[in-house]
Amino acid sequence: MSTHQKNSSQKTGLRPICVNTGCEQPVTYSHTSRSGVRRWRPVCSRCQRASYGNGDHAPGVVPIKKAHCENQDGRLGYECTAHIAYPGVLELDHRDGDRCNNDPANIQTLCKVCHSYKGHISNDFRRRRLTQREEPVIIATQTQEQQ
Ligand SMILES: [Zn+2]
Ligand SMILES: [Zn+2]
Repeated sequence: MSTHQKNSSQKTGLRPICVNTGCEQPVTYSHTSRSGVRRWRPVCSRCQRASYGNGDHAPGVVPIKKAHCENQDGRLGYECTAHIAYPGVLELDHRDGDRCNNDPANIQTLCKVCHSYKGHISNDFRRRRLTQREEPVIIATQTQEQQ
């Protein structure tokens, strides 16, 4: 195992490394946010294209993306039953919300519906944190129970 650090601080503005196992390429550019921050995709351009069936991953690269929505286990508070018609409806989510933290442990696969829901509840938490001093409720804790 390489000790290569795939996470970097958002403050440094460094371009993270692709999240996929065995891939050491810098991630590909996504867009610039309204506040002027450059946003990166979690994967490099080759992996990005390969995930949509356009070409192959580089030799030795194993995509981290699952073929199902990981919220099937109810980690977001309900069990996802979405039908995955094609891989494009699955997205990589940074658990801690830091798009530059490409540590594989920080990445989960969510369908577009669950990803959008997670964004919605995180915004709620952020708003609540501004008005209250109590600890936010962590609802996205990992459940280790097997079905
Ligand atoms: Zn890659
Ligand atoms: Zn889902």
